[in-house]
Amino acid sequence: MADLELDDVTKVYVENDGNEITAVDEVSLEIDDGEFLVLVGPSGCGKSTTLRMVAGLESITSGEIRLDGEVINDRKPKDRDIAMVFQSYALYPHMTVRENMAFGLEESTTMPDDEIAETVESTAEMLGIDDLLDRKPDDLSGGQQQRVALGRAIVRDPEVFLLDEPLSNLDAKLRAQMRTELQRLQEELTVSTIYVTHDQTEAMTMADKIAILNEGQLQQVGTPLECYHEPANLFVAGFIGEPSMNFFETTREDDRLVHDCFEYDLSRETAAEVGDHSDLVLGIRPEDVELSAGSEGRHSYETVVDVVEPMGNENNVYLTFAGDHDETFVATIDGLQHVEEGESVIAKLPEEAVHVFDRESGRALRNRTLDTESVTDLRI
Ligand code: ADP
Repeated sequence: MADLELDDVTKVYVENDGNEITAVDEVSLEIDDGEFLVLVGPSGCGKSTTLRMVAGLESITSGEIRLDGEVINDRKPKDRDIAMVFQSYALYPHMTVRENMAFGLEESTTMPDDEIAETVESTAEMLGIDDLLDRKPDDLSGGQQQRVALGRAIVRDPEVFLLDEPLSNLDAKLRAQMRTELQRLQEELTVSTIYVTHDQTEAMTMADKIAILNEGQLQQVGTPLECYHEPANLFVAGFIGEPSMNFFETTREDDRLVHDCFEYDLSRETAAEVGDHSDLVLGIRPEDVELSAGSEGRHSYETVVDVVEPMGNENNVYLTFAGDHDETFVATIDGLQHVEEGESVIAKLPEEAVHVFDRESGRALRNRTLDTESVTDLRI
């Protein structure tokens, strides 16, 4: 167990033609003892490079990585007490599961053979793979190989776990099952963990804390709910949540936001939060758009149903503003509510649920109201 700190960590790759690529740009992060941090962002944003620098597999251009306060920049990977699980599992094909799991301990510790055997067996039992110990990786399913790769990391009893997209080779059902299992394991082992993924659902469902990266730069660090409800900027607002937040480009005129298809009145409070910025983006999550058959009122607009995407528990309803068929936006409604394509409906964008961003910098100027009354506590 350990605290891990990244302090202004930067990685610049220099290509053969001298061209420089800043893969990771002054990233600072703290992973507390036993914490599960998910590093998430689109492909190419610098996640793997960050993880590889922590593991010692990649040199650091500038900045510091500290483990329990001690700088480990120049420590060899095997001396870092950090175990990494790769997307490809990286198992030795000619070795049995038992040998694969024991290998790291044999190579890097002075643990006696009988203790190694015992550790491997108890870890295999914990992961439900104890009946596979004498098989070779080729004779295992993807999910079983994944468990072996995890087991190999767990037997080393490391200070820190680094997991690089460990579930992306599994089918959707197994992935969901392994998500829960990994969380349970991590809680049981209380090892500080950095988990890398491009999948925001994994980030939302697994993390104690999410760190969102884009183009090598850290966008926000927060709990899943903070990042969802209080995004720091347009990038985070659009990246977290499925379907994505709806965005409307608007211009401020007095206390109204003017969009090509509608005008949105701002209350005095919201206007004050927005300040004197004039090019703005209005954002609203699909589940906050309210549909009804009623008449237009404040923040309500006549729309036409373009496409209905039934998900079972809910319907994603794609809408266009009446008289304009270019701009679509989406409302998520209960699966038992019925709307037909081509029908007219009133869509309300309630002011307490809207976000306002500065168009130029992307910064959130106003996030939805999350008063404590709207959070229900279900503990008995
Ligand atoms: P992610 O894991 O988020 O997909 P990476 O950390 O793999 O992103 O890559 C970040 C950026 O660094 C990308 O633009 C990638 O092309 C570049 N990059 C990664 N490895 C190298 C390398 N060895 N040489 C040059 N550029 C690299």
